[in-house]
Amino acid sequence: MFFIDQLEIEKRIRVMRREFEKFGISDELRGYSWDSPPVEPINNKTLSVSDFIRICPTMRDLYLKYVEKLRLKPNVFMLSGLAYHEVISKTIFEIKKILYQESIDGAKLIELMLSNLEIPVNVCKKLDIDAENCIKLYKFLVIQTAAQIDRVLSKFPFASVESVISKALPPIVERQIDGSLVGLSSNLSVDIFTPYNVIADLKSGEEREQNFLTLAGYALALEADESTDVNFGFIIYLRFGKFVQFKIKHSLISDELRRQFLELRDEALDLIESEKDPGKAESCPKYCGFYGVCNETDS
Ligand code: SF4
Repeated sequence: MFFIDQLEIEKRIRVMRREFEKFGISDELRGYSWDSPPVEPINNKTLSVSDFIRICPTMRDLYLKYVEKLRLKPNVFMLSGLAYHEVISKTIFEIKKILYQESIDGAKLIELMLSNLEIPVNVCKKLDIDAENCIKLYKFLVIQTAAQIDRVLSKFPFASVESVISKALPPIVERQIDGSLVGLSSNLSVDIFTPYNVIADLKSGEEREQNFLTLAGYALALEADESTDVNFGFIIYLRFGKFVQFKIKHSLISDELRRQFLELRDEALDLIESEKDPGKAESCPKYCGFYGVCNETDS
């Protein structure tokens, strides 16, 4: 996700660092304390981080998914989110591949990549969604990277390919981690801004406070899997209007956020183990993936 303004990121990290110095984070709420409460899961069931987005007020979605084993019908927001993630990772991969094959400037990269829109078109075709936003995102990524490449080459004309890539693409890596020690999936995929071990989560749906719970989940899982400290997180909201826009929200992965996540996790794990249907919510958002199951007559 190299589109994030580096200076903006640095500024926000400074803000969060000050909060961290003031409030700290308790060791007993770190993921590496997975062998004792409150981090230790109450049973051996596992959840996915997306379960914490909290669409269903009664958690019936989790009952249907884990007890009844029903498949969630992905809504348009989920499919779009998947598509944007895929377009970003495939575009970055393709840019790297081209740069390793030949030494080119930004203009040549634009010429090569914008003459072929296969990446965004194929991603959207596979998910059966409109390709307009994916194409916008693809073009944006290519043009931003091309500008960065030219900036690097004008300052360091003899830079090696490795050096151009590391300077033109920001240090955000996708990492596979095992979250099972903290009651999450054993195969989580998380974006990390490496110099500071900051979790970054890209979202295309509505802005909600609950989204920060997913940051806590990823942080706990990474701390448990790699015995490291994770203090900060970003949620990057992707918006499409006339232009592609990224709205950044940040949060210290504080004790309070960790407690909220752990309480919700234990409530969900308990519900799954009990196998009891919690009943339908009073009102159901139409975009819930189980809307058709719980509201058969209205669907
Ligand atoms: S349709 Fe309603 S009750 Fe069913 S899972 Fe979704 S929000 Fe919950």
